[in-house]
This record gives sequence, C-alpha cells and structure tokens, in this order.
Amino acid sequence: MEGTEKKVALSGIQPTGIFTLGNYLGAVRNWEKLQKNYECIFFIANLHSLTTKRDATILKDLTSKIVALLIACGIDTNKHTLFIQSDISYHAELSWILQCLTQFGELKRMTQFKDKSQKNSSNINAGLFCYPVLMAADILLYNPDVIPIGIDQKQHLELTETIATRFNNTYGKTFKIPKGYIPEIGAKIMSLTDPTKKMSKSDENQNSFISILDTEETILNKFKKATTDSDNKIIYSEEKPGISNLLSIFSSFADCSVEDAEDHFKNKTYKDLKFETADVVAKNLKPVQEKYNELLKDRNKLKKICEEGAEKARAIAKKTLDDVYEKVGLK
Ligand code: ATP
Ligand code: MG
Repeated sequence: MEGTEKKVALSGIQPTGIFTLGNYLGAVRNWEKLQKNYECIFFIANLHSLTTKRDATILKDLTSKIVALLIACGIDTNKHTLFIQSDISYHAELSWILQCLTQFGELKRMTQFKDKSQKNSSNINAGLFCYPVLMAADILLYNPDVIPIGIDQKQHLELTETIATRFNNTYGKTFKIPKGYIPEIGAKIMSLTDPTKKMSKSDENQNSFISILDTEETILNKFKKATTDSDNKIIYSEEKPGISNLLSIFSSFADCSVEDAEDHFKNKTYKDLKFETADVVAKNLKPVQEKYNELLKDRNKLKKICEEGAEKARAIAKKTLDDVYEKVGLK
C-alpha cells in the first residue's frame, strides 16, 4: 500500500551503562514521542559497545537492563520494533561494504573518534575508527525517514548522508537520505562535574551524570555537587555552562521554556536551582524506575520481545542487503 505507509523513525543506544539524563532528554524521550506518528525501529547497539573494553557478563546483563529501561520509558513493543543489533548479522555485513566507500580522511575528522581516543589512549582500535560506518549501516539497512539523536551524533549522521549519496551515485538509487531529529532543549546535556563536556553514561566519574535509576537521595547529592560559578546569577549563557545546563534540565522536566525557567529562578539562589532541579528530576524518574523494576523480574519475556523484534527487523534488513549485494556484484 505505497503512499499510505507511515514514515519510519530509527535510533539506537549502546549498552555501555544504565542510561543518563542526557540519553533520555537527547534521544529516548523523543523516541517515545515519535511512536505516535511514525513506524519506529529501535535497537540496542551492542556491537558498537565493543569499541571500548567490555566484560562479557556485564555486557549481557546491561543489554537486557537497557531493554527493560526503554520499555519503562514508554517504548511500546506491541506496536513498534525493538531488537538487539548483534541478532542481525546484516549490520556487520553492510558495514564492510560501506567501509570500502568511506575515506580514511573522513573518519579521521570525526570528533567522537578524537574524544574517545583521547579518553582510551591505550585502546585506539580500528572498530572505534570505523564506528560511524557501522552506524551508517544500522541506519541505511532500514531506509528510515528520521533519526532521533542527541547533537553529538549529528556529525556521524552527516557522514551517513555522504556515504549513502556516494553509494547511490555509484550503483544507482538505493538508499533514502535520512534526516536527524534533534530536540530544541536537551540536545546536549552536559556533565555535572565538567559542564564543558557532554554527559556520558560511560564516564568513570559517577558524579558527572544522573542515571535514570539513581535514587532521590543520590540525585540530590549529585546536583548539590554540580559545578557552577560564583556570580550567583541564574541566567542561560555560554559563559555559564553549569547554570545553563541546570536550567536546560529543569525546563525539560518542568515542561517550560528556558526563559520561563530563568523567570522562575529570578530572585532565587543556586541552592534553590539545584534543589528544585533535583526534585523535578526525581519526581519524573520515579514512575520509570518502578516500571523498570517490575519488568526486570521477567528476563525471559524481555528476551522474547527482542527475538520478535529481530525477526521483524531482519526481514527489512535482508531485503536491503540483497539489493546491495546485487548492485555491487556480489550476487
Ligand atoms: P557512551 O559514553 O558509551 O558513548 P553515551 O551516553 O554517549 O554513551 P550513546 O549510547 O552513545 O550514549 O548514545 C545514545 C543516544 O543518546 C544518542 O542519540 C546520543 O546522541 C544521545 N546522547 C548521548 N549523550 C547525550 C547528552 N549528553 N545529551 C543529549 N543526548 C545525548
Ligand atoms: Mg556516545
């Protein structure tokens, strides 16, 4: 029924830790919203997570925890597709073909590669270098219309566009060029301890991020310790990354604009900003945590959901890969 089909949204998250406020506000919250008007495909990017050292048992455990957490955040697996990346071998296969269409210089420019190489200077592996190409394969296998991501992934999405265009120009129109879907507020939530760096779930410093599963007490303690400045003005400004970050988090959860948040804190102190932000975050996370704890009791059910998701996704991916194999002369 061409023409009447819903547009497709696709995105993934790595099982590198329980996800943070950054992942939630930058990506997962939009995944939840897009379900209304899009056919959604979401996946746990476990192949990507091997680009940094992983303990196998922890990785397996985290993978099912992230599945539970996504469902707790409102991902409806009855209507949409959720799967685990490694369950579909086509991702790795398409990635190889796309690598042969990607220039060394293009990958060398990627800021995530530079940042992560700096952080893990003893393990700058080829997988980390080729990460954006696997991401291009993840996307292009499903020909989606929109990709809901945080701003840190924008550069990778632009590279996906370059690779897809190059493939189309070389072998004939095959891939749709996907568009990013980046939120106005929350596209880049910053670390609480160093607000010039993005909040990351794989950060070794636990105080730098709020995990979706943090208790009310931990949330308050982390916000209390958050780095700010000393001029006591609660305004959103590039010169005040710590305060601006807290205002972004507050307004995202209080569902108001940053201007409204500035207004709300006009005659208040940094302490008020920290306490009220902690409060609104904890209140919003509580129902998610309750649902998560319930879902985690039945890991077999979670496994089954992902197997069913993989079955649906595999059928779409196979069609694309067959087409690609034929076009490049492998079939
Ligand atoms: P890692 O440190 O292991 O790379 P991460 O926190 O960056 O973990 P990813 O799994 O790489 O998380 O990314 C999942 C999604 O979350 C992506 O769409 C990414 O753009 C988004 N995201 C990650 N960090 C932030 C952030 N600080 N603010 C907003 N969005 C973010
Ligand atoms: Mg990341």
